[in-house]
Amino acid sequence: MTGRMVEAVDSLLNKMEVGHDGNRKEGGCSVAAKTHPDAKMHAVSWMGSHNMQVKEVPRPMVTDPADVLLRVTNTAICGSDLHLYVHGMPSMKSGDVLGHEFMGVVEEVGDAVTKVKRGDRVLVAFDIACGHCFFCNHGYQSSCDSTNPSKISEAMYGQAMGGVFGYSHLAGGYQGGQADYVRVPFGDVNCLKVPDGLADHDALFLTDILPTAWHANEMGEVHEGDVVAIWGAGPVGILAAHCAQHRGARRVIMIDSVQDRLDFVKRKLPGVETLNFKEKETVSALREMTANEPGRGPDVVIEAAGFHYSKSWLHAIEMKLQLETDTADMLNEMITAVRKGGRISIVGVYIGFVNHLNIGAFMEKQLTMRGGQTPVQRYWPTLLPKVQAGELVPSMVITHVLPLEQAPKGYKIFNEKSDGCIKVVLQPGATEAVTLPPAGRT
Ligand code: NAD
Ligand code: ZN
Repeated sequence: MTGRMVEAVDSLLNKMEVGHDGNRKEGGCSVAAKTHPDAKMHAVSWMGSHNMQVKEVPRPMVTDPADVLLRVTNTAICGSDLHLYVHGMPSMKSGDVLGHEFMGVVEEVGDAVTKVKRGDRVLVAFDIACGHCFFCNHGYQSSCDSTNPSKISEAMYGQAMGGVFGYSHLAGGYQGGQADYVRVPFGDVNCLKVPDGLADHDALFLTDILPTAWHANEMGEVHEGDVVAIWGAGPVGILAAHCAQHRGARRVIMIDSVQDRLDFVKRKLPGVETLNFKEKETVSALREMTANEPGRGPDVVIEAAGFHYSKSWLHAIEMKLQLETDTADMLNEMITAVRKGGRISIVGVYIGFVNHLNIGAFMEKQLTMRGGQTPVQRYWPTLLPKVQAGELVPSMVITHVLPLEQAPKGYKIFNEKSDGCIKVVLQPGATEAVTLPPAGRT
């Protein structure tokens, strides 16, 4: 989405005066946290395109009886935060506190909280769920009906998505967890106690990218013997490949243009095949690579990149001219490359409209397409034991552990894919970067 398009939606949003802090839906929670009269904290604040700054802001307090106040110990930068960094997402406001992947120690609980107590080490789901609406009851926590009062989200999508920490006013306008402290609404639903013996960095990605990688496989119904192709070798794509191998996929093919990332995948996940689309056009290369497969194409294709990565001039120009908000480049490649009767799974984020979608091929080839923000809480009972048993090792993607104060550097290298960056973890209160053992980077 271009800056101009983002500004147009922003101006509409301001006219409608919706999605602002303080709004509340029936059965929901306060969006704005009460803040401490004296205590301040440090937090990563969105100050505009390519401009994240660590600012001193008021410390949040328990606001509703179901709240948990968390002292954050580890928080990560997500590919979804990059959509905000490049200002691809409308409804951001200067000073918004970012971050939706975080864990820490419970500092205080509201009167209605029963499952966690002060001192517990917990991780938090990125999607804010009430735990009692129709959607939460059916395992669609990221579509919670009670936690996102944004009328824009409702107008754009027909029904509003659920609330997300630190992820624009379209997703509720909640303060995020790239901060010393964060308020967690519906703490009993959205916090998971970390079992003793499980290290912080092994547990951290149960907040988002491991369940997202699993969700990609669930929506694509990846099972024993499948051939799976994945667009995007970022942290989400890499963990989607890891999950696909765990589920018995016979072949996994990762597509990206960043050779460094493809090499990282080869080192970490032996057996995964890679395809650099700068060297070979994606669809014809996949056609060649799967020529001897029974269906002459992948059984499952997974989108793990997202709407702002336009590849063709056509979509780059149409996005600039505000003729569309998102690119269809990768979606069309997936529709064309997948075998007839195949499954398309989209976890890379899309926010609006695309032109030139090859709906004909989609229909004629008898394809299935599914997408969604991940209902993280749904997958905790499945994934926590797998992480504890070492069957899934999500911490493999960590390449940088920096003090929270170095967040601007973290965003820059993650966005540029420089310095070998795959995944950045930020630590509030830390003063120095952690040097990872060589095994962490080989
Ligand atoms: P990332 O930006 O680090 O990774 C995306 C990768 O895609 C990059 O390596 C990039 O080079 C590659 N890419 C760009 N254009 C491509 C193309 N045409 N073909 C193939 N690869 C291409 O981000 P990430 O952290 O790995 O996240 C990936 C996506 O998942 C983002 O869109 C993020 O918002 C989304 N996400 C979704 C959920 C969810 O709940 N659905 C949760 C977390 C992240
Ligand atoms: Zn995320």
